[in-house]
Amino acid sequence: MNTSVSRREALLGIGGLGVAGALTLAGGQSAAFGRQASASAGSATPQQGAGFYRFRLGDVECFSIGDSQGRLPAFPLWGENAGEAAVNAALKARAVPPGLMLMHFNVLVIRVGGETWLVDAGNGPSGDRPGQLLTHLGTLGIKPEAVTGVILSHLHGDHFAGLFTADNRLTFPNARYMLNKLERDFWTTPDLSKTNLPEAFKKNMTEGAGKALAALTASKKLEIIQGDMKVSGGLSVRHTGGHTPGHQTVVVEGGGQRLDMIVDAVHHFVLSFRNPDWHAQFDVDAKQGAAVRRATLQRLASDGTLVMGYHTPWPGLGNVLPDGDGFAWHPAQWEW
Ligand SMILES: [Zn+2]
Repeated sequence: MNTSVSRREALLGIGGLGVAGALTLAGGQSAAFGRQASASAGSATPQQGAGFYRFRLGDVECFSIGDSQGRLPAFPLWGENAGEAAVNAALKARAVPPGLMLMHFNVLVIRVGGETWLVDAGNGPSGDRPGQLLTHLGTLGIKPEAVTGVILSHLHGDHFAGLFTADNRLTFPNARYMLNKLERDFWTTPDLSKTNLPEAFKKNMTEGAGKALAALTASKKLEIIQGDMKVSGGLSVRHTGGHTPGHQTVVVEGGGQRLDMIVDAVHHFVLSFRNPDWHAQFDVDAKQGAAVRRATLQRLASDGTLVMGYHTPWPGLGNVLPDGDGFAWHPAQWEW
């Protein structure tokens, strides 16, 4: 059974996501692009699944939190250098209906040595489809005050908006916030001339990143880091660039096992893997993004590492396999 497809189809059957809830690129969208209206938002329909998935690497306890979902048009966000027909054919080959892609937003929580770390913070409290990170942390008994650190992969709204409450306080008041220097520098004087994202989207992105950066700087809890570094026991950060200049990923090691959280090196579980050279408009430099994506997938396909993606189908865990001149996403089995 193709668990990837069956899970996606199961998700399609709930929540009332549809064209009316899809993000449009004509303007007016929020910086955090996971905030689409859902026909069932606020209804009494029970939420499917618990919203978190727990797994272990030795002494390191991890959770994948399903923060939100949303829909994005496949073309031209993916494959603008290949053409719409090629994009639709690639989707059809994997039984994914063309048009609006269901996107996932997976926050990794790591508990090790008495510390609790987050990799990014989801979509935050506003919008029609707000992030559920706090709800799910609550279910797990993890209070916001207990979060000791947040590794910020990059400054896109779907990753940082959850750092702030509705009244603009820090959601995790006791946390350190780790951001790569190149990311800080890029959003201080942003240049989005190398992506064809609509101008309204670029404007929202730059304004949102600027506000987040200002607030984090003012908090005096922001730590600017460079290159690769060990953060804590079993937890290290790797600078990759590509998606954004300061994009960083996280490696978790424990019990002889290893997890590589590649965040936004990939975005879609078919298009990003099968055709890594296809441009993604969310990469601020489409060519650079494609080069980093191929190199990342090449490395992971050859060493068999357990992988997590921020946008791969929840809970986002799996392996990368070689597939012709590209790669394939093979979801991990759930164990409960
Ligand atoms: Zn993202």
